Amino acid sequence: MRRLWIDGEFTEGSTGRTIQVVDPATEEIVDVVPKGGVAEVDRAVAAAGRAFPAWKRVPALERAELLVETARRLRANREEFAITLTRETGRTLRKNRGYVDWSATCFEYYAGLIRDRRGRVIPSAETGQLNLVLQEPMGVVGCIVPFNYPLMLLAWKVAPALAAGNVVVIKPASQTPLTTLDLSRVFDHLPRGVVNIITGAGAEVGDALVMHPDVPCIAFTGSTATGQRIYRMGAERIKKLHLELGGSDAVIVCADCDLEAATRAVAWTGFLNAGQVCTSAERVYVEQPVHRRFLEMFSALTSKLVVGPGMDEKTEVTPLIGRAERDQVEARVQQARREGAEIVTGGRRPERLTKGWFYEPTVLAGMRHGMSLLKEEIFGPVVPILSFSTFDEALDLANDSPYGLGATLFSTDAKKVRRYYEEIQVGNVWVNDPLVDNPAGPFGGMKMSGLGRELGEEGLLEFQQTKHVHWDIEGRIKPWWYPLAD
Ligand code: NAP
Repeated sequence: MRRLWIDGEFTEGSTGRTIQVVDPATEEIVDVVPKGGVAEVDRAVAAAGRAFPAWKRVPALERAELLVETARRLRANREEFAITLTRETGRTLRKNRGYVDWSATCFEYYAGLIRDRRGRVIPSAETGQLNLVLQEPMGVVGCIVPFNYPLMLLAWKVAPALAAGNVVVIKPASQTPLTTLDLSRVFDHLPRGVVNIITGAGAEVGDALVMHPDVPCIAFTGSTATGQRIYRMGAERIKKLHLELGGSDAVIVCADCDLEAATRAVAWTGFLNAGQVCTSAERVYVEQPVHRRFLEMFSALTSKLVVGPGMDEKTEVTPLIGRAERDQVEARVQQARREGAEIVTGGRRPERLTKGWFYEPTVLAGMRHGMSLLKEEIFGPVVPILSFSTFDEALDLANDSPYGLGATLFSTDAKKVRRYYEEIQVGNVWVNDPLVDNPAGPFGGMKMSGLGRELGEEGLLEFQQTKHVHWDIEGRIKPWWYPLAD
């Protein structure tokens, strides 16, 4: 059994309750973790609060060195972390090795950035004054992450939060807490209490963390429904909230693009991690002259994809995280079929895989804008292919969504590309190359996809608060002070 990590020490927690972590590919129990409660939240927040005054005074150069050491330890334990990630998420071992490295890169990036980010000096209104704009840490940051990218999305929060001088209490998703608890070994060179890791139900531990009076900032990634709940709870104490929520990403495929490249890229975007990616292809709009050809090429490629466990090096499409999630995807595809959609390929469980929550990568056609499947995110390996006749229409369709997380355009026409990036209402705009991140480039959504940005300089600012210091160095008496001069 794994244990919670509070104030630099392992603990089983006070509730005596546990959570079983199940391998989505085999349905075997991988391990058991404590199901913490409100008492664990209180202990972790108190420990972090005690660590904060000293940690925020650690010189930035020294903090940076400590974060570089975290990155080094992540890389040194790459294989072990990648295997645990594969067992708990079902994702491929190959990709998970890359995610460990990518998470380390995030710590290195913020270690570099914090070395020269303290604020700025602005020109004063009068001589003899000094005006400083200081960026300061906020204190205890609650970091809550979803099941689909437990390590990487955590790094996107914890690295900038610590770099800025904050302390953190981490709560992973109940389905994927193992790698997160193992992170104690990459943080145990930090002063005790700077990082605390607790597990437990979102509605209990998550709520308690969000509501805690000594937690001024919550960094959350997850569904829009949970984000809305956190937004309402945070309002009570005017908390700083950083919300990375759901999406319904559109892909526009223009007739002028390299159709072979677009086919391969859309398959990757739609089926990576069994479609459980916030920026996966949810709606693909293809220009009419190439629509039929694209659909043929895309379904031919999809039907050949290798579905299987993430530990198998040949696997391309892995299982869904749980039985309920697989059943929900299945039900939504059947609902779309009843509404008139055609299942071109997939649309069922693979017969040869009798264990695990697998679902065949699925291509849908014959869909009309406005069908229920196109309105709400489907967190599974399902890609609906639609068509458009004019570029205006494509942009209107892509923007007609309450979400605004990401979008991709495939085109070689510079005029279209420019119009697209100017007019598309999303935070992550990809052209010919979907789903890629850059630690220096901000990631986040517009509309109901969230508030704030992760990564980049913007991702550091999310964990800082601003002070304006006005200092009259000479301390002269001002003519406008009382009593007024005659
Ligand atoms: P979720 O159900 O909202 O859960 C996310 C996290 O919130 C989990 O740790 C969960 O804990 C916790 N939680 C649940 N209820 C809570 C509450 N009342 N108060 C505080 N915390 C609570 O989301 P999910 O199903 O794990 O993840 C899928 C969603 O995340 C999708 O909508 C996807 O688009 C979105 N996502 C967005 C991004 C982005 O960057 N925008 C990235 C990845 C995923 P438990 O597991 O214990 O319930």
